[in-house]
Formats: sequence, structure tokens, C-alpha cells
Amino acid sequence: MADSAGAADFGTPAARARIVSRISPRYRGEMHFLGLLTEVALLMGVALWLVRDVRPWEWLLVPAALVFGNGVEWLVHRGPLHHPWPPRLPYNRHTLTHHAAFSDRDMAVASWRELRIVLFPLYALPLLEVMVLPVFALVWWTLGRNAAGLFAFASVLYYLIYELLHLAYHLPAHHPVSRLRVVGWLKRHHQRHHDPREMTAGNFNVSIPLFDWLLGTRLRDAEDQGAQRASADAASDATHTIS
Ligand SMILES: [Zn+2]
Ligand SMILES: [Zn+2]
Repeated sequence: MADSAGAADFGTPAARARIVSRISPRYRGEMHFLGLLTEVALLMGVALWLVRDVRPWEWLLVPAALVFGNGVEWLVHRGPLHHPWPPRLPYNRHTLTHHAAFSDRDMAVASWRELRIVLFPLYALPLLEVMVLPVFALVWWTLGRNAAGLFAFASVLYYLIYELLHLAYHLPAHHPVSRLRVVGWLKRHHQRHHDPREMTAGNFNVSIPLFDWLLGTRLRDAEDQGAQRASADAASDATHTIS
């Protein structure tokens, strides 16, 4: 197993080298990625199998599930992924492995093998779906089978978006996906979170920073602060000019 780094060299190339050296020789990043796409397709198929003759209002369950997913992402990331609560596995895998291997100064994967420390393990998606089963049951009970099916479909879609975006942020800068403007903007948000001094302070959304914005945990990057200072200076200049 690839877990975990010591505190002394957290986020350094030495920590990454040691973590990567512990990945099983049998591990194949390509198979991990293919496994993710396969389990997503299977679960989406099961969810859509529940859905028949959708009424217009039932489509609202898709954006509702995406917003719900964003809240779960924020909560799980801020909680068990960054606190050594029992069982420590999520903390070991995220803080002591993912963060210890990738600091904000060097987030790019160097090989398919390093997907082991970027992607969630394949059991994470079924486990998360089991955890949200009470919500799924509540939706079915109150709004019906179609609503539950669309909710389940969108929750799996959200997981896929999370995994693909997170992987995109950890691709090398020359990769075509890294050059997309939207990926660049979202990557800066996540990169700030990879600063070891700030990883518990904010930017807990990895995909769209909706709950970071709603709950005030969005860390401003230097560019934002510079722009804010410039606009404050301009306002102050304007005030002086007027007075
Ligand atoms: Zn990351
Ligand atoms: Zn984190």
C-alpha cells in the first residue's frame, strides 16, 4: 500500500518518491481509471433502469442531487479526509498520502502509477452510495421512483465529475486538458488547498467551489487579493479626487 508520509518531509519530492515506491507492483493506473468508468456506467445504468415516463418537475432532482453532492464533498473533505478520526483510513489516504505527495508547488502526476494516489479507491463509490441510501429512500418515499432514480443517476454523475476534474488538476501543465480555461481556474482553487500550511483552512470543494463560497471557506489567491487591493486603491484615489 502507498500510505503514508512522515511529517518531516511532507509535500517534498522525497515524500512523493517514498509514497510511490510503496505502490504495489501489480497496480495499473490504466485499469484503475477503466474500473472507475465501468462502475460509474453500471451504477448509472441501474439508476436509469428505475426511470420511466419522466414528468417535467422530476428533472429538478438532477440539479438538486448535484448541489447535494457539492455539500457532501465539502463536508467529507473538511471532516474525515483532514481529521484523524476513526477509522483513520480516509485521513491516511488523503492527508498523509495525497497531500504529502503533492504540494501546491508540484501537483502534476509523473506516470499512470501515480493515479493510485489521486483517484479514490474503487470501493469508495459503492460505499458513498450506501451512505446516501437513507436520502435516496426518502426521495423515493416522498417523491416517487422516477425522482429517486434521477437523484441516484445525478449523484453518480457528480462523483464522476469530481474524479475527472481532480485528475485534470493533477495532470502536467502541457496536457491539452490543463490548457482549458475552466480547468485552469478550478485548478488554482485546488492548488491553493494543496499548500500544506492552508490545507485545513479552506477550499474544501474540489469540483465547483459552491459550498466554499456559501460557507465562507474560499481562500483568495494572490491574484484575487491583488485585484481587490487595486480596486480598493482606485476607490480611495477616486475619493481623494472627489474630496
Ligand atoms: Zn488534489
Ligand atoms: Zn484535502
